[in-house]
Amino acid sequence: MTGGLDVQDLSFSYGAKQALNHVSFAVPPGRFCALLGPNGAGKSTLVSLLTRLLVSPSGAIHIAGQDLGRSPGKALARLGVVFQQPTLDLDLSVRQNLAYFAALHRIPRRGLNARIDAVLSRLDMAERSHEKVRSLNGGHRRRTELARALLHDPQVLLLDEPTVGLDAASRASIVAHVHDLADQGLCVLWTTHLTDEVRDSDDLLVLHRGEILTAGRSGEIRGALSLSDWFQSVTGAPA
Ligand code: ADP
Repeated sequence: MTGGLDVQDLSFSYGAKQALNHVSFAVPPGRFCALLGPNGAGKSTLVSLLTRLLVSPSGAIHIAGQDLGRSPGKALARLGVVFQQPTLDLDLSVRQNLAYFAALHRIPRRGLNARIDAVLSRLDMAERSHEKVRSLNGGHRRRTELARALLHDPQVLLLDEPTVGLDAASRASIVAHVHDLADQGLCVLWTTHLTDEVRDSDDLLVLHRGEILTAGRSGEIRGALSLSDWFQSVTGAPA
């Protein structure tokens, strides 16, 4: 495959504890895929493998056609990541945080201001460009992290439980913005344990005890049940 995210036969163990067991799935460009799993399902382990914080001796991960095992630099250059823990510098402005990231990632200075303006506009954050991150609310901080993840124009966007700690309105806003990005052609993998962040038209992967339990279109999978009730019926975990 040339675009999107492709994971084949990925397994990982922490010593004797098997955290992922022969996991395979693909997310094409232009799709929002929710990876739903209760605590302990293996979501963080999968995110660590996709970002190469961990390396598995088995299986293969392709990011926009690049093999993460063989060409990690090329593969990671095509990946944007929003980690669960915020990593912004609170005493820098929104623009300064993005410029700092750009320098770390060797994004050319030429055209950088226009590039920053473009990603901030995409997330309705243009007017906050010169505000210190410390003065922003949680939702705007999260949007700044999202803008930063888009700065190098990735083809695949990975978000690890990105709404943790946000109020309902900020959560809904981030969910809507990321769906828009998928509609514009980005391949999105969104990990969560919250079923209300998933739309019927999204792709859904349910991870349970290290295995993909179900994969498909969310609305078709849940049938007549709410996604929350369906999820509880198959995993035993409330959502
Ligand atoms: P999730 O993010 O879905 O909550 P994790 O990937 O954190 O799941 O964990 C998957 C499984 O691996 C769990 O059973 C967890 O206890 C185990 N695990 C996670 N990290 C470690 C570790 N460093 N050492 C041993 N076991 C671990």
